[in-house]
Amino acid sequence: MSELVKSIAEVRNIRWQNPAQTWGLVPTMGALHAGHLELVRRALAENDRVAVSIFVNPLQFNQASDLEKYPRQIEHDIELLQPLGTHLIWTPHVEEMYPPHFQTTVNVEKISQPLEGAARPNHFRGVTTVVAKLFNVIQPTRAYFGQKDAQQVKVIQQMVADLSFNLSIVVCPTVREPDGLAMSSRNQRLNPAERQAATVLYQALQAAQNQWQNGLRNSKLLHETMRKIISAAPLARIDYISLADPLTLAELEGELKQALVSMAVYIGEIRLIDNLTLE
Ligand code: AMP
Repeated sequence: MSELVKSIAEVRNIRWQNPAQTWGLVPTMGALHAGHLELVRRALAENDRVAVSIFVNPLQFNQASDLEKYPRQIEHDIELLQPLGTHLIWTPHVEEMYPPHFQTTVNVEKISQPLEGAARPNHFRGVTTVVAKLFNVIQPTRAYFGQKDAQQVKVIQQMVADLSFNLSIVVCPTVREPDGLAMSSRNQRLNPAERQAATVLYQALQAAQNQWQNGLRNSKLLHETMRKIISAAPLARIDYISLADPLTLAELEGELKQALVSMAVYIGEIRLIDNLTLE
């Protein structure tokens, strides 16, 4: 049976019952899907104990309506996690995570700024602050993140290096639906027509990858390919399409040697992201 806990004190108590055990942490915002469960399975394979945190972190939402509409289904999440053998499920109280007069945040400077950082001001400050807190409370041996959120991985790796956190970050591949759509808790909010249109992100990424495999290296032409495919989808609106340096996330122009291709696209009201690396 998984232990279900809310308070920081309870988490610490369980974490340190046997200090010799290794712990994996999978931070999530709940509404779990097969992508999350892959992270949990990997953590279970690599650690003696696994904790999954479920916390819809208000600090990382820049729109109140997005926070309010974010899917919450804790009972179902627990039903998914228990049979896997998850040892600890932590659902923090927002009041304990952010007590009155809370005033300390963690901000990773440069790599937080482009892409999602530009589109969602203060988003990454919210992410790094909550992840730093989760790391401090659980002190995991390893923490598991999805490549689906490529910039988030880079920002967290930078934070871990800069602040000397004593843990390893494990990055897991993006899990997709059979039609290629990257799994996301936000997909639940798509109506049937939008769900169909949402495959356009992966189609665009694949078209770029096909061209790359055929030897095309020109960033303008790769951009154009993706833009055309997405613009043709009736319910899709491009927020950004980027070809960036995989290390610095600086936008690339001209002939490319490698690139992180990433995009954010509105399907109706729902903003979806996806990425892949060309190398
Ligand atoms: P979230 O609950 O959306 O904050 O995601 C929690 C973790 O699961 C993050 O590290 C995400 O990158 C990861 N994740 C979300 N969707 C996927 C997916 N489709 N494949 C792999 N990892 C994912």
